[in-house]
Amino acid sequence: MERRVRVRFAPSPTGPLHMGGVRTALYNYLFARKHGGDFILRIEDTDSHRFVPGAEAYILESLRWCGITIDEGVVEGGPHAPYRQSERREIYLKYALALVESGHAYYAFDTPAELDTLRTEYESRGETFSYNHSVREQLNTSLRLSSEEVKARIENGDQWVIRFKMPANEEVHMHDLIRGDVTVNTSTLDDKVLYKSADSLPTYHLANIVDDHLMEITHVIRGEEWLPSLPLHYLLYRAFGWSDSQPAFAHLPLLLKPTGKGKLSKRDGDKMGFPVFPLQWTSPEGETAHGYREDGYFPEAFVNMLALLGWNPGTDQEIFSMDELISLFSLERVGKSGARFNPEKARWFNAQYLRHKSDAELTALFMPILAEHEVTADPNIVERIVGLLKERATFVRDLWDLSWFFFKAPTEYDAKGVKKFWHEENIAKLRELRAILAAATDFTATALEPMVHDWIVSHEYSMGQVMNAFRLAMVGQSSGPAIFEICEIVGRDETLARIDRALDSLTQ
Ligand code: GLU
Repeated sequence: MERRVRVRFAPSPTGPLHMGGVRTALYNYLFARKHGGDFILRIEDTDSHRFVPGAEAYILESLRWCGITIDEGVVEGGPHAPYRQSERREIYLKYALALVESGHAYYAFDTPAELDTLRTEYESRGETFSYNHSVREQLNTSLRLSSEEVKARIENGDQWVIRFKMPANEEVHMHDLIRGDVTVNTSTLDDKVLYKSADSLPTYHLANIVDDHLMEITHVIRGEEWLPSLPLHYLLYRAFGWSDSQPAFAHLPLLLKPTGKGKLSKRDGDKMGFPVFPLQWTSPEGETAHGYREDGYFPEAFVNMLALLGWNPGTDQEIFSMDELISLFSLERVGKSGARFNPEKARWFNAQYLRHKSDAELTALFMPILAEHEVTADPNIVERIVGLLKERATFVRDLWDLSWFFFKAPTEYDAKGVKKFWHEENIAKLRELRAILAAATDFTATALEPMVHDWIVSHEYSMGQVMNAFRLAMVGQSSGPAIFEICEIVGRDETLARIDRALDSLTQ
């Protein structure tokens, strides 16, 4: 019987979620929805040293902002609750002990100081210490000590860990849905700690395998950085006798820097002025980092951009709604090689989404920005202005720079424009134009444009000269949207007042 698809996003709350993490969550979500399965959020917080307050709330809010909905998780609950590993701590010891019992794991009593000494000793010989088959029988482990001694040490309160007994020389054959078959020889691997008595907590490896099994996860879709752990995970499934039901694995390609080599990091973002986090983050120490949301990106644009960083639809289509992504997504179309992040493309996506928003929607977003500039305006007029300008904006906030002159008269005039267009001849023509506009019966753009056009042509004036001088008076600069739209929107009185003011202040 086909198993119901169940995937999980399993972040550790060690800081703000990187956009690579959001992509992992997104691909899991798309895969779950596409197959009519479940998307589970599990918080992997067993590393108490790396726990950062606020990180879990940040993760939840990031997914909510992106429109990634959770079926089972820390807030939603579900049949396998709790979904926070720190609340499942009593589950794990039993499994660690079962592995000791079956000979797949052992107790180790080495203190951190003893391990440090060993490391230094090895280093002084130019070697690297690795806790593995070559040393485990000589060290303070249950493989060397008698069972009485092990028992006595535990009862005495000595600290211990349980380590996985990695086979000495075995080829582990694995399969990855993106990379195909992968084989690793265990001689390169060490005996990872699975459980620590010091804090009565499992490590990532044990908790992750036990929970994926108990939560009936069918597909593990995660970042490439976990590929080196895959042999251990395979062997853990085998040691538990769960190989038959172990999940399929897919390791996603890294997100690469915009230029050069390496992983996309926060430093790249700081240097080049783009966020690497979905939301703004303030660390417990008070440091803040930029977020896509606060920088003015639409969540749909961010999600669309992320979806294409590693996956391709096999066509030229670039704009996808979440529903389209769900129906088109497949792991077969996820690439093996790193996906290069392009900040310009991220802005391009935002501009695309901005121009496809309705004028009414953009107006609602723009009104608060107008209020910040102490402008009170009729929303119907703002809607018209937004419609005229949205093709030129990348972010909603750009609309102010593109449209302020609809709301305020210019107080300064662009020096270059003045030099080029503000001379005697044009000034005289502008006075004529003022009289024509004052007398116009119909002050709409559609009526004004042909009228002024005919006047210029019939007098054989230069269109560029007159119109640029006029524009300078109206907006203080030589570029902007259609001038007669501006006249109509600001109205006749304001149009004439702006011409008068320019004539006054520029013509001394
Ligand atoms: N807790 C791990 C992380 O922070 C999860 C890795 C996995 O998905 O297995 O990325």
